[in-house]
Amino acid sequence: MRIDILTLFPGMCEAFLDESIIGRARESGKVVINCHDIRAYTLDKHNRVDDAPYGGGTGMIMQTQPIYSCFESLCEELGSRPHLIYMTPQGKTLTQQRVRELSCYENIAILCGHYEGVDERVIEEIVDEEISIGDYVITGGELPALILADSISRMLPGVLANEDAFTLESHFSSLLEYPQYTRPYEWHGREVPEVLISGHHANIEKWQREQSLKRTFERRPDLLEKADLGKKDKEFIEKLKSENDIEND
Ligand code: SAM
Repeated sequence: MRIDILTLFPGMCEAFLDESIIGRARESGKVVINCHDIRAYTLDKHNRVDDAPYGGGTGMIMQTQPIYSCFESLCEELGSRPHLIYMTPQGKTLTQQRVRELSCYENIAILCGHYEGVDERVIEEIVDEEISIGDYVITGGELPALILADSISRMLPGVLANEDAFTLESHFSSLLEYPQYTRPYEWHGREVPEVLISGHHANIEKWQREQSLKRTFERRPDLLEKADLGKKDKEFIEKLKSENDIEND
């Protein structure tokens, strides 16, 4: 899969994309991620890429021309038009489900806004989808674009050591993950749950499933409605509910 990031700050993105799991995935060609400097496409003789908003107001707005030319040049290079996503607090909130769907695309491109945002006309002209990372505002689209690129890349074949690494994780199946522990066995007087060192795989799996259900029930009960639950899961949740009712009486 290939991901292209259109940004005014390619260095900011490259610094992150060069490191750790995503850095190794890029190096081994499991994912191709390129950053494109929007400023390199401006036709302004002073290299400007933004201007004051019509109608007044604070801050600057990214102009249409450099973004459009940068995207056109990318389309020419690819020989096709990638699915273009604009990162914006006005978009649909990113979910694991959407990440999964996007990981099936061959090419996606991500547009990062900055300052007070982007001239609406270029969004109307070239953007296919608008995605938000949550109901808060940050200074630029670079971190949101990296969140999207990272979350998609780790779902691609071979990027993580094995598929369990993400299929058992929080949100993959609408459940939060069970608590995890590593060495030492005892730390600050707290021991690792006994079942995890029992070597009894069926009991470990049962404990992990129940902990996952309990966590989701306690922290994000809204997710349980979407989760794929078996008979035993439902019975366990009913038990949690009645224990909860007794506590609240
Ligand atoms: N004036 C814009 C508004 O009220 O919708 C916010 C502009 S924000 C300061 C600058 C850029 O950061 C945006 O164009 C967008 O690319 C990015 N950004 C900020 N918060 C974001 C979020 N929650 N999700 C995705 N992108 C975000």
